[in-house]
Amino acid sequence: MKNNFQVSTKLTQLGRNPNEQYGFVNCPTYRGSTVIFNTVSDIENDNAVFNYGTAGTPTIANLENAWSELAGAAGTVLSPSGLGAIALALFTTTKAGDHLLMPDSVYRPSRNFCNNMMIKYGVEVSYYDPLIGLDIETLIKPNTSTIFLESPGSQSFEIQDVPAIVSVAKKYGIKTIIDNTWATPLFFKAHEHGVDLSLEAGTKYLGGHSDLLMGVVSANKETWPALRATYDYMSMLPGAEDCFLALRGLRTMHLRLKEAEKRGLEMAHWLKDRPEILKVLHPALPDCQGHEIWKRDFTGSSGLFSVVLDPKYTHQNLANMLDNMSIFGLGFSWGGFESLIIPFDCSSYRTVTKWNPGGLTIRLQIGLEDMDDLKSDLAQGFNRLKN
Ligand SMILES: *Cc1c(COP(=O)(O)O)cnc(C)c1O
Repeated sequence: MKNNFQVSTKLTQLGRNPNEQYGFVNCPTYRGSTVIFNTVSDIENDNAVFNYGTAGTPTIANLENAWSELAGAAGTVLSPSGLGAIALALFTTTKAGDHLLMPDSVYRPSRNFCNNMMIKYGVEVSYYDPLIGLDIETLIKPNTSTIFLESPGSQSFEIQDVPAIVSVAKKYGIKTIIDNTWATPLFFKAHEHGVDLSLEAGTKYLGGHSDLLMGVVSANKETWPALRATYDYMSMLPGAEDCFLALRGLRTMHLRLKEAEKRGLEMAHWLKDRPEILKVLHPALPDCQGHEIWKRDFTGSSGLFSVVLDPKYTHQNLANMLDNMSIFGLGFSWGGFESLIIPFDCSSYRTVTKWNPGGLTIRLQIGLEDMDDLKSDLAQGFNRLKN
């Protein structure tokens, strides 16, 4: 887009062109494998905008281009899941013999991917303290090719000093990848902070309705050709209907995120004052770890955060609470319209940092239900916790 419209305006306009759609507002859903060429010359010179379904369709291109504009990226590719996007990004910046640095707070399936697939293909994987900052320099080896970041950390919400880590990476010619799912490009502009590849589980706030699996990876100018090549070699792409749902989600993403932010903060403050809660892990709360960095680098917070319970509660108390919630669903994923709650424990799989929050931990996603209904569901849950 050649104009300076605000993001909410862009979200209504990107990825559709009524002039090319018989005036219809939305882009049609192109399903297709074969593309018919006009002449032998067109085939031999690859003289067509689209040449085969795996290389793209107008529906896919509209979503990719819209996301590039939103993320301030040179280019974007899609994937059938967020984890697929993580694989695409890592396959782009690593090769056999390379060394890869992963934050100890990383989304657990990313850890599984590295410890199994990356290692299987000859990449050396080591983990680092997500709060390491500039000291990441001490972990760099001659063969380090990639530093992976995720901020805030999955479930545990550590905020990373992205500019510090990126500055070290740049000094050594190392590529950086960030899992930006929590903030999305609306609340954290990864490429503006110098990150090479930024990925998003579109499953969460892009889809927004718990009915879509999608991954998105965007690249800066320097890394884009390599990302696009990896995508073309692998040909792992989402189906047409999913791209349609993602384009639809894009239109209201800004509104939904703003509302998620407001509700998440209201609930985080309410929980902070409850006697059952030891600590709230929400980077937008002033006394939480990383708050200063969050304030410096982010422009908002989303509706997902965690809490630590008072240490007097047992696992059985926690099960009593969570087994009988009326509104909060016990389920993975997040970013949809419905509230979710899950227990978690990072201590079983961390390798270079100790996860010792001081009590049992739960993660909450605040949905669009009435706030008083949600609070009363939690208050009743706390009563069960105590019995
Ligand atoms: C959900 C999630 C993913 C993976 O997305 P899927 O579409 O479920 O594969 C990756 N990173 C983070 C931080 C997530 O929350």
